[in-house]
Amino acid sequence: MSAQLIARLIDACVDTVVRNADELTALDSAIGDGDHGLNMQRGFEAVAAAREDIAAQPLQQALHKAGMTLVMKVGGASGPLYGSALMAMAKADGSLVEMLHAAVNAVKSRGKSDVGEKTMLDVLVPVLDAVKAGADADSVRETADRAVIATREMLATKGRASFLGERSIGHIDPGARSACLLVHAVCDALESEDD
Ligand code: ADP
Ligand code: MG
Repeated sequence: MSAQLIARLIDACVDTVVRNADELTALDSAIGDGDHGLNMQRGFEAVAAAREDIAAQPLQQALHKAGMTLVMKVGGASGPLYGSALMAMAKADGSLVEMLHAAVNAVKSRGKSDVGEKTMLDVLVPVLDAVKAGADADSVRETADRAVIATREMLATKGRASFLGERSIGHIDPGARSACLLVHAVCDALESEDD
């Protein structure tokens, strides 16, 4: 993968996190501690600061370095989860499906969580399934959008939202929303390469 494309992927992810930080924080205020937007913004701004260094490396090292940066800078549950997802992608060889599979497995094992618990996995797993089935960028984005909405009716059994029990129902999961934003950003950046 070219340095240019890695830089474009970074820019797309940073941009969406920064632009939507307030929304992520508002979602986290309803069922968490109201820091998800800030956490994500801090982490992705640190990735942006290392943009040239990261993009200059081969994809695997670039993913590893970005993942390490998120683990170190994000704070909160989401940092180690997204960070280990990227570091696992760095170790997976080959296809996008293999990389996504490794990312999902890393979140599951680090988070001791699975689908249906109202977390980022409720977006990442349907997206993995869609990519596996050969979906194009448009239907991957639609899958992610639908998956975010579906978290509204779920009962949280992992993370801070689980402390609310039944009261977590009726709210969208902030990490599911951030995962969706990142999926859109990656689709957009990969698509723009084909132009
Ligand atoms: P914190 O909960 O520590 O304040 P954030 O607010 O940054 O961290 O992130 C919260 C999000 O992290 C949740 O909305 C959820 O999607 C995700 N999350 C939390 N715990 C887990 C877990 N065990 N497995 C998967 N995702 C989780
Ligand atoms: Mg939080």
